[in-house]
Amino acid sequence: MKTIGLIGGMSWESTAEYYRLLNEFTRDRLGGLHSARCVIYSVDFAEIEQLQVQGRWTEAGEALAGAAQSLEAAGADLVLICTNTMHKVADVVAAAVSVPLLHLADATAKAVRASGLRRVGLLGTAFTMEQDFYRGRLEVAGLDVRVPHAEGRGLVHRVIYEELCVGIVRDDSRVAYQKVIDELVAEGAEGVILGCTEIELLIRPEDSPVPIFPTARLHAEAAVDQALRGV
Ligand code: GLU
Repeated sequence: MKTIGLIGGMSWESTAEYYRLLNEFTRDRLGGLHSARCVIYSVDFAEIEQLQVQGRWTEAGEALAGAAQSLEAAGADLVLICTNTMHKVADVVAAAVSVPLLHLADATAKAVRASGLRRVGLLGTAFTMEQDFYRGRLEVAGLDVRVPHAEGRGLVHRVIYEELCVGIVRDDSRVAYQKVIDELVAEGAEGVILGCTEIELLIRPEDSPVPIFPTARLHAEAAVDQALRGV
């Protein structure tokens, strides 16, 4: 098995989930005591979040590119950015290393297409829902992507940063998300991409009337698949 490099800490709540998922998928595939070969570079999210709100994406890209280089130096054969939002700087990160970057939007688009669905809702941070770096890549892959209206986007974004990224999972926030999902479904969404790696800590398949696509899970599964295929 090849070694998976994780750029994590954004937030660590979802990176912990990635770690568990990588090991579970590896055990499921190989059996016995097998677990994932991996290296984690976990940042201080407070620093990254400041760069996000100030729009200092060049510095954010440099920080994550440096993390990717550290992972490569530590033996990583492929690299994951364990957040949808920070794929805004994916090209800079990919260019900084000679090993492949497994793009989260590609893993997600592949899973949606394999399910036979095409029109999907997208929940995530405001950056992910409103800018083109992630949504555009899903659309290039053939998906018809819908995002919530402004009020719903504000709610989804706020719950991510004020609750989920600091380990708070509230029933009333789940209900509020369900309302946003219901609105997307009423407008034609056949499935919903949980395009922020913490949302799957809040929303489970049974919480949605349509299939959900949990991005941390899909990314971790694709990484194990790639690592077992020899990258
Ligand atoms: N983990 C989240 C994501 O997948 C949000 C935190 C961040 O801004 O990176 O987008």
